[in-house]
Amino acid sequence: MPEGPEIYRAAAMLDAALAGRIARRLHLARADLHARARPLQGRRIVSVRARGKAILTRFEGDRYIYSHNQLYGRWQVSEDGGQPEFRRSLRLAIHTGGPAAFLYSASDIAIMEETDLATHPYLARLGPDLLDPAVDESLVLSRLEDPRFSRRGLVALLQDQRFLAGIGNYLAAEILHHCRLHPAARLRELDNERIHALADSCLALPRQSLATGGITNTLSRAAALQQRGADLETARFLVYRRAGLPCYRCGRPIEKARFVGKTTYWCPTCQARDGC
Ligand SMILES: [Zn+2]
Repeated sequence: MPEGPEIYRAAAMLDAALAGRIARRLHLARADLHARARPLQGRRIVSVRARGKAILTRFEGDRYIYSHNQLYGRWQVSEDGGQPEFRRSLRLAIHTGGPAAFLYSASDIAIMEETDLATHPYLARLGPDLLDPAVDESLVLSRLEDPRFSRRGLVALLQDQRFLAGIGNYLAAEILHHCRLHPAARLRELDNERIHALADSCLALPRQSLATGGITNTLSRAAALQQRGADLETARFLVYRRAGLPCYRCGRPIEKARFVGKTTYWCPTCQARDGC
């Protein structure tokens, strides 16, 4: 499933193509959305923004198309408006007369007004979005110190969008390795120093990933690996999808294991539980 940085990059691509243009024609595969979508045709698109793993396409008059990519959803933009050859089912298309945007496979689509955003079952429950520039360390710390979350194993808690928005599988594994925490550790087991380290990693890695096209590895190390011929997929991660390969810190093999219901990657040496 795409995670926060991938959704933000998709939103930025859509915003560059669509913002300021008139939606001349909309195609929605779901017939139950046609009546609500009709008033959007002929309106100007104001912006396209990510909210957690959802995308909001905002139209003049504070109307929105909400979409969530789920597992297989994929956005494509064509500069000349032509539909790309893509062997998936088309769910939504926005034609402007110039560039057009096409959403494939995702069926979680809604047409909303401003007032609906506050009550939408996904949006209303989203925690602070780690890629929102307004979200800072003190806000993340307030979540980490909230007793409602103190008993849950970290690798599952980090992927709960109601806790913090934007983290999925790869970011959870990378964040926990970055701040040397055991995947099953609980917030209530962590001292102040470790809580601060976790807050730092929760902000730093998603933002680095967004800025670099997906790199959560140390940037100098990723660059050195690529200079020696590694491709981006090989160079980008600290532990994710590196089972059996040596930990960059301690040299022992990275392991793939299941904790608190989530399969993840970790270094048993660097991420020991310290008797917690
Ligand atoms: Zn290690």
